[in-house]
Amino acid sequence: MNVPTTPTSFLIQNYRRQDVSFVRGAGCYLYDGAGREYLDAFAGVAVCTLGHSHPKLVETLSRQAATLIHTSNHYGQLGQEELAASIVPQAFPGRMLFCNSGTEANEAAYKLVRLWGNVAHEGRKRRIIAFEGGFHGRTLGSLSITHTPSYRAPFEPLPPTDFVPFGDADALAAAMKKDDVAGVFLEPVQGESGVHVPPPGFLARVRELCTRHQALMVADEIQTGIGRTGRMFCHQHEGITPDVMSLAKGLGGGIPIGAVLATEPVAALLKPGLHGTTFGGNPFACAAGLTVMKEVTSPGFLGNVVERGLQLMEGLRRIFGPTHEVRGKGLLVGVQLQRPPTELVKAALAQGLVVGVAGNNTLRIAPALIITSAQVDELLEKLAAAHRAQG
Ligand SMILES: *Cc1c(COP(=O)(O)O)cnc(C)c1O
Repeated sequence: MNVPTTPTSFLIQNYRRQDVSFVRGAGCYLYDGAGREYLDAFAGVAVCTLGHSHPKLVETLSRQAATLIHTSNHYGQLGQEELAASIVPQAFPGRMLFCNSGTEANEAAYKLVRLWGNVAHEGRKRRIIAFEGGFHGRTLGSLSITHTPSYRAPFEPLPPTDFVPFGDADALAAAMKKDDVAGVFLEPVQGESGVHVPPPGFLARVRELCTRHQALMVADEIQTGIGRTGRMFCHQHEGITPDVMSLAKGLGGGIPIGAVLATEPVAALLKPGLHGTTFGGNPFACAAGLTVMKEVTSPGFLGNVVERGLQLMEGLRRIFGPTHEVRGKGLLVGVQLQRPPTELVKAALAQGLVVGVAGNNTLRIAPALIITSAQVDELLEKLAAAHRAQG
């Protein structure tokens, strides 16, 4: 008989979890079972756009739960119509499809790319390009365009992808020469692998190459979208638009929802019956998304993200000095460390501060976008104390 290795839990042990469980949240603060307060500078992996228990989100979700939670996509979806109508004018002309998570959004984007190569270009475009350091999710299609070898290797074989160095437009140009590329997937700022910001002009070069070679440019804005980097969508910093964009994380403010937006000719390839989801974009999730969109588009909201981001990066440079690179855009910020970031994450928790990790050497800071100037100062004080405590 097998001896259970984790007799105290019925959960599959696929996560390395911190030794703390939160039971309540309010604004930028979390509380554990003993009532201890933590400043939350991670927002559930850049998800809780409006912080915890935001009154508007509580109000809409309570009302929506009491009105209608789910009907399925066999019927009209007024919530999806309303949410799409709030997103599309902020992005680029096209149509949307709603799902439940980031990886599902990228699966839908991947299928659109396949249709582009197989249907619109009659099978002449079959190659898929993604970037070294890129992260796009854990389901098999999204995993196939995710670069991290340790995430991929145990699940091979995966659909083939050609990986190009991130930020290297010349390498991309060389990879696209044969006109056989159907789509190029990229994060406008790579989040998961260490908060890597590409050189200025890179996104514009990708746009130009995709247009020239009739390949779809797919911007994975799952982490960078919905105001995270100080613009509604990160690609807007470079004044370009992709052909397809995937969203999730910050869109629902904590309620699971994902989405893709595709330009009309691309969206038109997805005929009835070709794709679908049971839960995707149900009235409850769309009510959350609409509430988040209303807040993020309200006057001054994105200005706060820009200012708090600058305040944060400046403070981090003061704390860590020139030996540690501080990278980021808006409120998606990374600090490259010289020892495993988990040590600093633990030291921060001891100071009552929640921060995250990206890649194997980067501290990731991604607080709720409603964070105040005083709270950024508090964050910096607590992190400085944690850094000092490490010696
Ligand atoms: C988190 C993330 C995903 C995956 O989203 P899930 O909701 O975890 O499936 C995909 N792409 C990017 C850029 C992400 O940050």
